Amino acid sequence: MKIRLPEKVSAIIRELKNAGYDAYAVGGCVRDSVLGRTPQDWDITTSARPQQVKEVFGHTIDTGIQHGTVTVMLEHEGFEVTTYRIDGEYEDARHPKNVEFTSELREDLKRRDFTINAMAYNDEAGLVDAFDGLEDIRRGVIRCVGNPEDRFTEDALRMLRAVRFAAQLGFGIEENTRKAIVKLAPNLKRISAERIQAELVKLLVSPHPEEMLAVYDTGIADVILPEFSRMMECQQNHPHHRGTVGEHTVWSLQAVPPVKALRLAMLLHDVAKPLCRTEDSRGIHHFHGHPVKGAEMSRQILRRLKFDNDTIRRVCLLVKCHDDRPYPLTEKVVRRAILRNGEEAYPDLFEVSRADILGQSDYMKKEKLKYVDEYRRIYEEICRKRQCLSLKDLAVTGSDLISAGMKPGREIGDVLQKMLNDVIEDPEANRKDILMERFGQGRYRQTDCTY
Ligand code: ATP
Ligand code: MG
Repeated sequence: MKIRLPEKVSAIIRELKNAGYDAYAVGGCVRDSVLGRTPQDWDITTSARPQQVKEVFGHTIDTGIQHGTVTVMLEHEGFEVTTYRIDGEYEDARHPKNVEFTSELREDLKRRDFTINAMAYNDEAGLVDAFDGLEDIRRGVIRCVGNPEDRFTEDALRMLRAVRFAAQLGFGIEENTRKAIVKLAPNLKRISAERIQAELVKLLVSPHPEEMLAVYDTGIADVILPEFSRMMECQQNHPHHRGTVGEHTVWSLQAVPPVKALRLAMLLHDVAKPLCRTEDSRGIHHFHGHPVKGAEMSRQILRRLKFDNDTIRRVCLLVKCHDDRPYPLTEKVVRRAILRNGEEAYPDLFEVSRADILGQSDYMKKEKLKYVDEYRRIYEEICRKRQCLSLKDLAVTGSDLISAGMKPGREIGDVLQKMLNDVIEDPEANRKDILMERFGQGRYRQTDCTY
């Protein structure tokens, strides 16, 4: 098997060889090359010790020197070069607690998680595939290198990684590997939120987010996202639905574009349904208030998983307004909806609504999709006309009000908000002269304050 290495990777391997060491491209980049996918980054493994790697290259960065990793810089591009090593137990971080360097490539491949990730390549030796990774790629199988229970005991994150790779590659998980996950899933509680978050996001934005079902089936969800298990177990007897809340969630995940905030929003949009469920006299389930409660729960969950504030804000906003349906669909009513929901929810909200509908039953599906299309069309029309939708587009600013004699303070915000309401009702009124005239006439005056 021949892999076309990027020129810089070949150059690094060549330099190391010229200095008397062995070096290979290794791990994800070899796997992706075999699969005909474009590798995200190229990792290199070598018999040279970190200090020796530094001596060979002009410009290096000590990335994880105690774990054997040096970044070699070639024309502003960095390549991680790691010494062959045998890992001790992994701690909560990205790296094992203690490592031992070795001169054997095979030992380095043996410490890697799955057979498909345990192949190395250079032009001289060709593919080094000590654990049948190539065959597992052909068969589409995620299989541990060595004994799965031992490997998952060393590092519990590998269990979630197995499902993540299955989702990214459309592979199945080998039977013994799966059994070991089911047995050892509770160990994931010892893994840091940051590491779990990274794997969960990769799984969600993959071509097979339905692997969330495997996250549930294996018991991983009970540990990292028990709220998803509750959704999987929540029936919803309602003409608009088929399947449990969790199944609906998975179908909606498949129907939304593979963008982090959108996939997270779909994952969590109905998270409060199990808590909000009531049953009427005909046995139909209702879920009053689940979007607002869901936004609250989403915030907690995403905080727990250490997501950044921007992601948390965007996702929670979408969860909160995922069920908001302005009616009738006129420009004025849509402008009110945009004001109510917040401009930042758009146009993502249309993707969320569409995916939500696609994950529901066929009942009224066509009509519901048509409604979303019309809603979007009107939204786009409003954008095209550059109508004012938030304070930043208002023709009057706080300093205009101060120039007109108002004292700086909370009242200014209140007046601007009332002006915005006026402009939402009538876009033609978004002119400084009109709004200031109304201001002068006392239209925005509060009963309990004078200006
Ligand atoms: P991606 O395309 O997502 O980067 P990758 O296979 O490169 O996938 P990384 O997390 O970048 O995954 O890890 C690079 C390589 O290091 C893996 O291919 C694997 O050989 C090894 N590896 C990474 N994490 C672990 C782990 N927790 N246990 C054992 N080996 C690991
Ligand atoms: Mg990688």
